Amino acid sequence: MNNFGYARAADVADAVRLSAADPAAKFIAGGTNLIDLMKYDVERPARLIDITHLPLKSVEHTSGGGLRIGALVPNSDLAYHPLIEKRYPILSSAILAGASQQLRNMASTGGNLLQRTRCFYFYDVATPCNKREPGSGCSAINGINRINAILGTSEQCIATHPSDMCVALAALEAKVHVTGPTGERAIAFEDFHRLPGDTPHLDNNLKPGEIVTGIELPAKGFAANHSYLKIRDRLSYAFALVSVAAALELDGTRIKEARLALGGVAHKPWRDAEAEATLRGRTADVEVFGKAADVLLRGAKGFAHNAFKIGLARRAIVRTLTQAANATPQIQSAKKIR
Ligand SMILES: Cc1cc2nc3c(=O)[nH]c(=O)nc-3n(C[C@H](O)[C@H](O)[C@H](O)COP(=O)(O)OP(=O)(O)OC[C@H]3O[C@@H](n4cnc5c(N)ncnc54)[C@H](O)[C@@H]3O)c2cc1C
Ligand code: SF4
Repeated sequence: MNNFGYARAADVADAVRLSAADPAAKFIAGGTNLIDLMKYDVERPARLIDITHLPLKSVEHTSGGGLRIGALVPNSDLAYHPLIEKRYPILSSAILAGASQQLRNMASTGGNLLQRTRCFYFYDVATPCNKREPGSGCSAINGINRINAILGTSEQCIATHPSDMCVALAALEAKVHVTGPTGERAIAFEDFHRLPGDTPHLDNNLKPGEIVTGIELPAKGFAANHSYLKIRDRLSYAFALVSVAAALELDGTRIKEARLALGGVAHKPWRDAEAEATLRGRTADVEVFGKAADVLLRGAKGFAHNAFKIGLARRAIVRTLTQAANATPQIQSAKKIR
């Protein structure tokens, strides 16, 4: 066990000050990912900055008609929040597709964004991994890569981002609010997580000392026509091999607006404006959905054990869009799995 210090932040400014003062410190919220990583010796923070007492636990209306979710709202509370269930049911569904009830009770909204990849080699400190140890190599590229990425990969890393919640947040075009040593800023969701490129050790675009304070949802929640479909090896308590968040705004059978995001296939939730443009203005039918899937997957590249994901993703996209168009989402009501 490595020795580490502990400090409890009194407020957001204190958290930023503590973090900026010690680059080897880490924030801890629910601890459901960070503590595991410390036990595996993957993360070795010099100090834990406990943020659990910060006033970031509410869901509030914004002046633009949307909602602002505090970074410390537990995943369960968020999934079952009446305003989320009613206005953003795709977010409820995605959260409830993840982990287990006990984990969701502990896991925070901010921590869910910042959770690290589940690539087997990232957790195995006996193997090379560019994400864990830059320059050491990537064991997954020629190793067991069944769960790894098919889109946006690099020669340095083929890891995926494991979150379900983030796939729905990408489709909803949320914003991430952060505070750092130079003040506050908002980051568009698609700019929050990074592709691996030559710097796979960087998962996101947070700057040193920055803390996530909240997530802002725009007014539009696509409550009528949406679905979140998660395909995994077990029916529960497993990460996505492929997941799809689909949200449509329909005028009869014509698609006025479409959002489509994939999970389990890339280093970040995968969206493509061209795939969504393929859907806009068209009749909602299987043929059109298939064309959108082809556009979304056009750069997909499989490795020895995960090429099956390409066909799986295509079928999942068509199915999820069909569910959304028919208003028969995969998870119909959060209450049913409470
Ligand atoms: C067995 C198991 C199964 C799981 N299955 C799924 C699944 O199917 N789908 C899914 O989506 N997730 C799954 N998870 C992951 C789970 O959702 C995450 O562990 C959880 O969301 C992390 O939140 P936390 O508050 O516990 O974060 P912590 O573990 O406290 O922190 C995680 C990281 O985020 C940083 N951090 C936390 N809060 C902030 C903040 N406000 N600002 C800046 N940095 C911050 C920490 O420094 C740390 O690096 C699973 C986890 C486990 C253990
Ligand atoms: S895919 Fe990324 S996380 Fe996995 S071994 Fe390669 S560098 Fe490490």
